[in-house]
Amino acid sequence: MSTLEIKNLHVQVDTNDGPKPILKGVDLTVASGEVHAIMGPNGSGKSTLAYSIAGHPDYEVTEGEVLLDGVNILDMSVDERARAGLFLAMQYPVEVPGVTVANFLRTAKTAIDGEAPKVRQWIGQVNQAMENLRMDPAFSQRDVNAGFSGGEKKRFEILQMELLRPRFAILDETDSGLDIDALRIVSEGVNRLHDASDAGFLLITHYTRILRYIKPSHIHVFVDGRVAEEGGPDLADRLEEEGYDRFLA
Ligand code: ADP
Ligand code: MG
Ligand code: MG
Repeated sequence: MSTLEIKNLHVQVDTNDGPKPILKGVDLTVASGEVHAIMGPNGSGKSTLAYSIAGHPDYEVTEGEVLLDGVNILDMSVDERARAGLFLAMQYPVEVPGVTVANFLRTAKTAIDGEAPKVRQWIGQVNQAMENLRMDPAFSQRDVNAGFSGGEKKRFEILQMELLRPRFAILDETDSGLDIDALRIVSEGVNRLHDASDAGFLLITHYTRILRYIKPSHIHVFVDGRVAEEGGPDLADRLEEEGYDRFLA
C-alpha cells in the first residue's frame, strides 16, 4: 500500500507584477487503489496542483510538502519523481517533433525501469494497449502529438499511463474536449489500470460527465487554490445540479 500526501501546499508563480500565490494550503491524501476526483471552476488552481506535484519549474512551492510513502518528493527532480512512480497526463500535451510515439514510449519505459524492456514482449504490450484504446497501429510512427487531434492527444496520454504503470496517476482534464466515444475509451483505460494494478488516481476535471464512467471514491471541490468541500460520489450529483456558483459567492 502506498500513499500520496499533499500537506498544506502553497504554490506561487512569477508574473510581471511579481509573485502571485495560487495554491493556498492544499491538504489531500490519496492511497493505492483509490480514485479521487478534483473538481472546480476554471482558474481555481487544479492544473497548478498537477504541475507542482510533477515538478514543473514555473511553480514555486513556498510552504508545505508532498509525501510519497513518507518521502518528500519536492526535493526530487522531475525524472526522479517519474521513477518513483508518479505520472501526469497533461491538460495540454506538448508536441515533440522528430520523436516518434514508438521511440518516446520505449525511452520513457527504459528511463523509469532503469533498463530497456525486452523487445518482443514490449511490442506486444504496446500493440495491445493501442488496440485497447482503438488507436491505429500507424500511430506509433507519427511524431509525438504533432498534428494529433485533441482526442488523439488524450488517448496518447492514457497509452503512456497504461504502459508506464505508475503508482499514482494524475490526469488533468483528460476528459475535456472529448466526444462521447473518446470519453468512454479514455475512461476504460483508467478503469483497466485501476483493475489491473493498485495505482491511485487523482482525476482533475471541470465536468461531471466523466464520473458516469469512472467512479471516484472521493471528491474534492477546488476553489481559489484550496479544497472548499469534500465528499463521496454523491457530491458529484449535487455539483451536476448546482454547478460551482454557491462556492463563488
Ligand atoms: P485551473 O487548472 O483550475 O483552471 P490553473 O492552475 O491553470 O487553474 O490556474 C490558476 C490561476 O493561476 C489562474 O488565475 C492562472 O491564470 C494562474 N496561473 C497559472 N499558471 C500561471 C503562470 N505560469 N503564470 C501566471 N499565472 C498563472
Ligand atoms: Mg482550466
Ligand atoms: Mg487546468
